[in-house]
Parts: sequence; C-alpha cells; structure tokens
Amino acid sequence: MQLRVIGFWGGYPAVGEATSCYVLEKDGFTFVIDMGSGALSTLQKYYDIEQIDAVILSHYHHDHMADIGVLQYAKLVHMYLGKGDDLLPIYGHDEDDRFYDLTHDQTVAKQYLPGETLMVGPFMIDFLKTKHPVPCYGMRINDSEKMIVYTADTAYDEEWIKFSEGADLLITDCNFYAEQDGEAAGHMTSEQGGYIAAHAQVNHLLLSHLPQYGNKTDLIEEAMRHYNGPITLANEGLIWDSKEGFIK
Ligand code: ZN
Repeated sequence: MQLRVIGFWGGYPAVGEATSCYVLEKDGFTFVIDMGSGALSTLQKYYDIEQIDAVILSHYHHDHMADIGVLQYAKLVHMYLGKGDDLLPIYGHDEDDRFYDLTHDQTVAKQYLPGETLMVGPFMIDFLKTKHPVPCYGMRINDSEKMIVYTADTAYDEEWIKFSEGADLLITDCNFYAEQDGEAAGHMTSEQGGYIAAHAQVNHLLLSHLPQYGNKTDLIEEAMRHYNGPITLANEGLIWDSKEGFIK
C-alpha cells in the first residue's frame, strides 16, 4: 500500500495548502482519510475525484472535514457531466449529528463501530477513541502485510503504545512543541509522539497536524529525545510506500 500526505496543518491551512487529509492506495483502491480545509483542491493535483472509492473521518472538527460539503457538490457535478453516478461511501462515527450530513445526493454516510474491525476495500481498520474535546477516533490500518497507525487528534494517552505496537508507520498529532502543554486542547507534543513511537517500537514516525509557528525542524529533534528510529515531518505530496518507505 501507499500513503500520500495531502494536508498536514493543524487548525487552518497555509496559503495553497491543506489541513488533515491522507490518501491510501492499494490494488487500485483509493481511500481518503480525513478531508480538511483545502483538501479537495490539493487532492486534485494528484487524483481525479472519480478515483476516490471511499472516505473516512476521524471526527467532525473543521480541520478534518471542512471539504466534505464541496466534495459532495463535486460528486453531484460529476454526475451531471456523465462522469459516473456511483455513490461515494463516507465513513464516520455517529456520536455527533453531523454524521447524518455525510449523506447527500451522491455520497452515503456509513457508520463505523469502535469495537469492530471495519473492512474497506483491501483495508482492515481498528479504532481507538482519542482524548479530544469532541468524540474522535484514531485508526490502525492493515492491508494484511503492513500496518499504519494514525492518531488523528489526541492528547497523550498511554493506550497509544499498545495500539501502535509494531506499526510500520505511525502518524502522530504533533500540534505542539515539547515545552508546550497540549492536554487541554486535546493534542500531543513532538516529544510525546516520540515517546509512543519508541515504546511501541514502530518502524517510522511521521509528525503531522503541525503548528503554524516556530521552527518545525525542532519538532524532529524533540521527538528524538525518546525515539531513535527514522522521523519525517509531514509535507504535501509526500509518499510512504509499504515496501520502500518514504520515496518522495
Ligand atoms: Zn480536532
């Protein structure tokens, strides 16, 4: 499988960029994880909208779902243009009424259940409820060969160590620098991401959901206080391949 970073900013996007959005591909199946602000525009640099087979949302904060509405319009326009009338499944939890907004003319809301493994195309997904001001789920995604863990938005919780154990790639919420306190906002620091990566013995750490201020390479140095494996700072277009690692 291959994962491409589309959007990586926390809160709001930089000019011409996007907040949380990742695309996972395997065997021609294209799976979008979160659909933040600017995501639909950025995603179209790399994919056609008709290519998207399914979408999943960790939670309903704007920086993870702002572009769902315009994706629904895009699907509708594409239907009128004769580019396909398939219904796009959008997976989410139903602990918020916004779940029901995921159903629109050409999209259909699909509920995931925290205690159950969800099968989407070639992917098997397990969930961990995060520590965040609203209900949010992190994901462990398996394709029967490799495993990616995505914390979505969360304050530090030692549950992440068990949940991430042996992951090939761990994508952490890194909205804060080490000396800041992310607890109240429901986010982690660079150092906490490094701590989880070290104790879960993951193969590669990707720091994402990044802050708009400070010197971002410091985030890597701070994560290295605990984790001595490879660390990458998220950036638009970056590709992680399950056989070759980061290739771009
Ligand atoms: Zn959030």
